[in-house]
Amino acid sequence: MTDMQEIVARAIDPNCAGLVYAGRAGTFPCSRQGRFQEGGKSWCSQHAPSKVAERHAKANKKYDEKWKAIDAAKLQAENKIWNSAIEAAAEVLDGLAEDLFTRAEQIEISSVRNAMKDQMVAYKLGAAAIRKLKKP
Ligand SMILES: [Zn+2]
Repeated sequence: MTDMQEIVARAIDPNCAGLVYAGRAGTFPCSRQGRFQEGGKSWCSQHAPSKVAERHAKANKKYDEKWKAIDAAKLQAENKIWNSAIEAAAEVLDGLAEDLFTRAEQIEISSVRNAMKDQMVAYKLGAAAIRKLKKP
């Protein structure tokens, strides 16, 4: 670009009103041409408030999605632990029921045998009830 072309270009598109941060050196005015007019000022595509807002919205969306995925994975892991604890408790009740059933078969006094079988049914119902507490 010749000097004349540069002067004409700057007249048409003045410099961006944005600031460039340069660490310890401080801030400098952006050297790009301002091709976007917003709020009575010229801005380059990096510093135009609408473009900055767009980038922030995109970054926030990505961040939200990332945390949603992390939360979902965490919940799934917690549910898996919960479900194995529930299943272990139900299996204990099932085991007690099976044991009671086997022992009740050997009892000759029918009232005692029936009481044992009633308890066996209670264990089985308890196991079924506890399995309903499983999470998806
Ligand atoms: Zn700029």
